[in-house]
Amino acid sequence: MSDFDFESFITDIPDYPEPGVVFKDITPLFADANAMRQTVLAIADHFRDAGITKVVGPEARGFMIGVPVAMELGAGFIPARKPGKLPRETYFVSYELEYGSDTLEIHRDAIESGDRILIVDDLIATGGTAAATGKLIQEVGGELVGYACILELTFLNPRDVLATSGDQELFSLV
Ligand code: IMP
Repeated sequence: MSDFDFESFITDIPDYPEPGVVFKDITPLFADANAMRQTVLAIADHFRDAGITKVVGPEARGFMIGVPVAMELGAGFIPARKPGKLPRETYFVSYELEYGSDTLEIHRDAIESGDRILIVDDLIATGGTAAATGKLIQEVGGELVGYACILELTFLNPRDVLATSGDQELFSLV
């Protein structure tokens, strides 16, 4: 495990996007060349021997971290996008948020049987987004190996939610 101080590059933004919410801003971690590199390497190193063939990243910060991790692992990258953004036929999953619901889509031909999948996002809060993405991947025949994120909000117990889609590992840096 890297002893790099990832946390010092994450900023708390009170009352964003609405009063009472403390938003974790990870953009400083990406603005610093070494911090970004350490982030990508720490996640990739953890899964280097796991035989990952595809990384799936939820829109939009999952793209930022998912693509370089995929390149480092010698894997492909699949974007999980908000509805209506992908040009070809998709599979979709809808999931509940605190207020309302959300939907993510992947292209129908993005995952091949035998693909070993790692889901990567910047932050896992309730685990709802990651768990829904994991269920979608499993429904379309991918083998879900695990989840990785920069920041896990442990006080929201996301591991309980992720456990509903299997016993895959969650690896978080902070
Ligand atoms: P969850 O579904 O509750 O686990 O929320 C995780 C999703 O919401 C991820 O795609 C994150 O990018 C996004 N998210 C939620 N809270 C924050 C935050 O404080 N900072 C950055 N992203 C967040």
